[in-house]
Amino acid sequence: MLRRPLALIAALLLILLISWSLRPKPSAEVARTALIMGTLVEIKGVGPDQKHTEEAISAAFDIMKSEEARFSSRIETSQISAINRNKGALEADPEVLFVLQLGQQISRQSAGAFHMGLGRLIKLWGFEAVNPRVPETQAIKQLLPAFTQDAVSMAGTGVERTDPRIQLDLGGIAKGYAVDRALEVLRASGLQSASVNAGGDIGLLGGHGERPWKIGIQHPRKPGELLATLELRDRAIVTSGDYERFFEIDGVRYHHILNPQTGLPARACQSVTVVAPRVAEADALATAVFVLGPNKGLALLENSSAVEGLIVGADGQVKVTAGLKGQVQWR
Ligand code: AMP
Ligand code: MG
Repeated sequence: MLRRPLALIAALLLILLISWSLRPKPSAEVARTALIMGTLVEIKGVGPDQKHTEEAISAAFDIMKSEEARFSSRIETSQISAINRNKGALEADPEVLFVLQLGQQISRQSAGAFHMGLGRLIKLWGFEAVNPRVPETQAIKQLLPAFTQDAVSMAGTGVERTDPRIQLDLGGIAKGYAVDRALEVLRASGLQSASVNAGGDIGLLGGHGERPWKIGIQHPRKPGELLATLELRDRAIVTSGDYERFFEIDGVRYHHILNPQTGLPARACQSVTVVAPRVAEADALATAVFVLGPNKGLALLENSSAVEGLIVGADGQVKVTAGLKGQVQWR
């Protein structure tokens, strides 16, 4: 029976080797990137099985692409473009209603500093185009009265612009919403741990293994350097900064976060970081606080117990909400 012991041992070793290589890899972290909504999106996931984690990440990217197709005002077939073309009320789907309602709520809380109807103004500045420019004062002035009220009126499932000068641009909230949807997909796939980073809009599922996720906050005036880090689990953290998209003329920086009252780039902050339960909310709040400036902005963040934040004023001074003090690790 033991005529060929070596062959038997070799066969057993082979079986062991195969089953070892096919075993589920428990803590393998998978990281993938994709270009969505004009931003490099990075998703990291940890799950019981690497192939399953990869599939979950692909599905998360897919849902983000479908949200881009729904919310982008630069895609002709999106529902937002249809609302922008329509003269009366248009039936919107529940996701669009949800985002518009959340956006309008934050718009009201911020006395209009966050406004979803700035499409025409953003086009005048050309931040999305290859050649951004300072528009004619008169062209800006003509639009401003439209931004003193809600962007849309909603009745049932119908959505209508409140003024013909309003063109919806959800650039300040839709990316955050898409990250929330990606996290839902990753959670539903059974991943214990994941992070989705869409150019500074970050959603976290669980911690990073046994530890919390360590998130760096970019220094607004030192490219590639961190201002601080925060340790977080199951949270959203979003930063809006004037360094993200800007051009300079005669030493003046013109950037993409506009003050709806003046039609000009908001001047009171260099950057705003908001920590909240959901990314959509953190996204809109970061833009709102950026426009409001350090004092009113801090008051807005302190109003909600579930929300924290860090504000770098135009002078470089940093303000932190009470609940975040002691949690920030400075660099
Ligand atoms: P964020 O990078 O999230 O601060 O959002 C900036 C983007 O939101 C811009 O690229 C515009 O598309 C849009 N936006 C600019 N200013 C405002 C504003 N005051 N309220 C809402 N959205 C804005
Ligand atoms: Mg935002």
